[in-house]
Amino acid sequence: MIVAGNFKANMTRKSTAAYLEKLEQYITEKETTPQVMIFPPATALDSLKGKILVGAQNAYPAQNGAFTGETALEQLEEFGIDTILIGHSERRHVLGESQEAIAQKYAFYKEQGFTIVYCIGEPLEIREEGNDVLMAYLDAQLVGIDLSYEKLVIAYEPVWAIGTGLTPSNSDIELLHTALRHKIEKPLLYGGSVKVNNAAEIMALDNVDGVLVGGASLDVDGFFSMVEDAQKCDS
Ligand code: PEP
Repeated sequence: MIVAGNFKANMTRKSTAAYLEKLEQYITEKETTPQVMIFPPATALDSLKGKILVGAQNAYPAQNGAFTGETALEQLEEFGIDTILIGHSERRHVLGESQEAIAQKYAFYKEQGFTIVYCIGEPLEIREEGNDVLMAYLDAQLVGIDLSYEKLVIAYEPVWAIGTGLTPSNSDIELLHTALRHKIEKPLLYGGSVKVNNAAEIMALDNVDGVLVGGASLDVDGFFSMVEDAQKCDS
């Protein structure tokens, strides 16, 4: 199981360091087995890491250069970061990243050997058009993505479930993950309003290999409780 937390533009360098220290202590003391990943804001990427995989929420596909406002490989390497989130719905829909730009980013960080958590997910109007339209939409988000990459993790995150408190039914999550499993033999995370009170049931579903948690990851005690839920699925 994998339990990943996406802080988005929340937390500071100081609060991230305190969070990671506490989380690291929990997972060491309780000897938990799930892989824990945290994606803090770029300013906090130098925070403590041990068993926790700390990754970038975004980076430019270049070693360095004239890319104002961006973080590139050189800056990630300085902090030993080799994990990245690519294709998150907020980057696609709020920041306007095209599939072409996302695929370029993917190819670059794959070439660098990064662990990549690659996000896909549909808006509500697509889901309402039925399964064929939904699967075609998700397929379009996989264009240019090498699905055989050994360090790939997929996160299925319906756009309408992110930060809204809404989730698909458990059977819809299971159906979708099972359909994805037929094309992608990689760990499949579910994301979108995962909370302390629904994480265990979601992780118990077939073909769900973990969760990607946004808002609810900001509370370290709650996040750790989700790691413990994942542990039960591992055993
Ligand atoms: C996310 O940002 O990836 C996410 C799933 O957010 P939330 O858990 O807040 O819906």
